[in-house]
Amino acid sequence: MEVLLHEDLAALSDLDEQSLLESLSQRFRQDRIYTYIGDILVAINPFKYLPLYEKEVSESYKYHEKTKLPPHIFAVADRAYQSMLGRLATGPRNQCIVISGESGAGKTESTKLLLRQIMELCRANSQLEQQILQVNPLLEAFGNAQTVMNDNSSRFGKYIQLRFHNSSVKGAKINEYLLEKSRVVHQDEGERNFHIFYCMLAGISPEDKDMYGLLDPTQYRYLNGRYGSEDIVRKWGEKYSEVCNAMDMVGFEEQEKVDMMTILAGILSLGNIMFEPTETDALRVTDKSMGWLKATAGQFGVQEEELLRSLTCTLSVMRGEAIRRLHNQQQAEDARDSIAKVAYGRVFGWIVSKVNELLAPNVDFDVELSEIGILDIFGFENFAVNRFEQLCINLANEQLQYFFNHHIFLMEQNEYKEEGIEWESISFKDNKPILDLFLTKPIGILSLLDEQSAFPQASDRDFVDKLNSKFKSSPHYEVVRSHSPLFTVVHYAGKVQYNGLGFLEKNRDTIPASIRSLFINSVTPLLSLLFAATISRTGTLMPRKAKLMQKADDNFNSTRKQSVGAQFKHSLAVLMEKMFVASPHFVRCIKPNGSKLPDQVDNKIVMDQLRYNGLLETIRIRRDGFSWRPSFKEFAQRFNILLIKPDLPLTKESCMSILNTTEIHGWKCGSSRMFFKYWHQEELARLLERLGKAA
Ligand code: ADP
Ligand code: MG
Repeated sequence: MEVLLHEDLAALSDLDEQSLLESLSQRFRQDRIYTYIGDILVAINPFKYLPLYEKEVSESYKYHEKTKLPPHIFAVADRAYQSMLGRLATGPRNQCIVISGESGAGKTESTKLLLRQIMELCRANSQLEQQILQVNPLLEAFGNAQTVMNDNSSRFGKYIQLRFHNSSVKGAKINEYLLEKSRVVHQDEGERNFHIFYCMLAGISPEDKDMYGLLDPTQYRYLNGRYGSEDIVRKWGEKYSEVCNAMDMVGFEEQEKVDMMTILAGILSLGNIMFEPTETDALRVTDKSMGWLKATAGQFGVQEEELLRSLTCTLSVMRGEAIRRLHNQQQAEDARDSIAKVAYGRVFGWIVSKVNELLAPNVDFDVELSEIGILDIFGFENFAVNRFEQLCINLANEQLQYFFNHHIFLMEQNEYKEEGIEWESISFKDNKPILDLFLTKPIGILSLLDEQSAFPQASDRDFVDKLNSKFKSSPHYEVVRSHSPLFTVVHYAGKVQYNGLGFLEKNRDTIPASIRSLFINSVTPLLSLLFAATISRTGTLMPRKAKLMQKADDNFNSTRKQSVGAQFKHSLAVLMEKMFVASPHFVRCIKPNGSKLPDQVDNKIVMDQLRYNGLLETIRIRRDGFSWRPSFKEFAQRFNILLIKPDLPLTKESCMSILNTTEIHGWKCGSSRMFFKYWHQEELARLLERLGKAA
């Protein structure tokens, strides 16, 4: 029992911020990085190798009894899998595992460990299983990068859904959220571009390097002229062959791989094109970068003159007449960078949709599949400057917090009330009003942003003025007096000041028609496909009608599409819909210090995370709460055997008499169901097992 006390902090008797912090860091110092708070798993990143994931460990956590083994991420995998199979008494069959924490806290590693263990649990079709596991290195190469927070930081969010029929996996689907495309053209001090560029340059054979027209890595502006030591380069090289293997394994064709690499090479060359003004109004490419222009055109498979034209001018149609507007230097550089971002973004989107096609369950329509979803999405962010990306990320976290609150607090509290069970009301911060501030139509932050984005003349300042006038009296919004378009949102985790500069442009995210038609006409099949098709919200490629493609030629903004904000809002809504009807599991990841060091706990940094995560509140409610609530019928049916009276009526009285024959204490009886603490479930299962053995 002594051990148990420490391993489940919900059982701590003296509960406050300090004791929570102390227990966690005490365990951490003994390399016990996992701790339960009720059925929530807290995981502290060890930043060093620990022998926690070996084959024997994995085996021992299969079909295990929770209290018999120390807390572990594998235990969460087991619980989700068993619940999906209906072997545990509670909740819906579909499962979702929500992994939260700030950058570098260990979310993505936890996701990988969960996937691996779930695949171990359902060993069925080993090829499919391998494919599912290979998706990760592939996505990481294209979607991860080194940042100051994390050497392997995911620059996109993902929801992985594993689909099962009975106990065996039949397929998988990935949703990706908000790839940080701006990283392709700019990285802050101490950060890098996406891994794939370095891997490609390090691992490619000399012949392929020639074929793709790649030059020395230090020449590329988009890589900041920085490469790496010999040691690092060797590691990248190894990673490149891993990525190539992963592509083969998942089922990419040779031509597709070649096209993909050629596009990446084109992006690098594009970044080196520089412009200078001439005596006339026109702009020209500097002498030094003429070679890069030629190289880019070759790599993208487009006409050099056409590429130049789309960089140096904009074509628009006004009352049926084509008007050409020449770019100034800044506009030309922006056009260059936006081509790079859009091309990279489309390659990434295409990889995900391709993976989804290949992993789609191959079963008849009437076969009912159940699901385990794993959500690995960026945590709450509050930087020196917060932009549109941070706003989206923090909105997602606000949603997740709402989901968590809803699940843990409201559902429990409401049900106790309905069932007439005594319950001291627990105060918590309901963040629904903040969500409303973002999402309400027609007057929420995102709607107002869309409204302003629809006016070509509107400025970021106009947008922020609009917010100020609508929300000045909201308790969750603060007007900032400044020349810059700043505004503050009071999030559940604290105040964040946003800089509205660039919001309208990022929200519109339009590609000029000239660029679209440039790429549609590319002789590189993949590039042409990427721009001829729109990637639908469900992540599959949908060719648009041929008519639309022709029209794109003479239409400035081509087709109307949804804004980035609206798309994100929609994908969040879809995600929430799924999560609200699944049984949730929560993993809270914590970063022990800000320097990525092993064996060091920075109390302030950890405490901040405990607060953001709502972990203290959670302890309180978990300890006091009843997490298992079977109906009288459900309970009596399952446990009447303990009374050895199979014909017992399935009533409240029977439930009480069953329980009175046991030593189990602390349960309550509501008006339609029983209420148990989470450990009662295991005690009862043990009684059944003992009876089974005796018989
Ligand atoms: P996040 O996805 O939350 O940003 P990651 O999962 O990428 O963070 O973890 C950051 C780094 O921390 C990893 O690259 C790895 O070096 C280390 N790490 C995370 N979890 C573990 C673990 N369980 N054991 C050892 N190292 C870990
Ligand atoms: Mg990550």
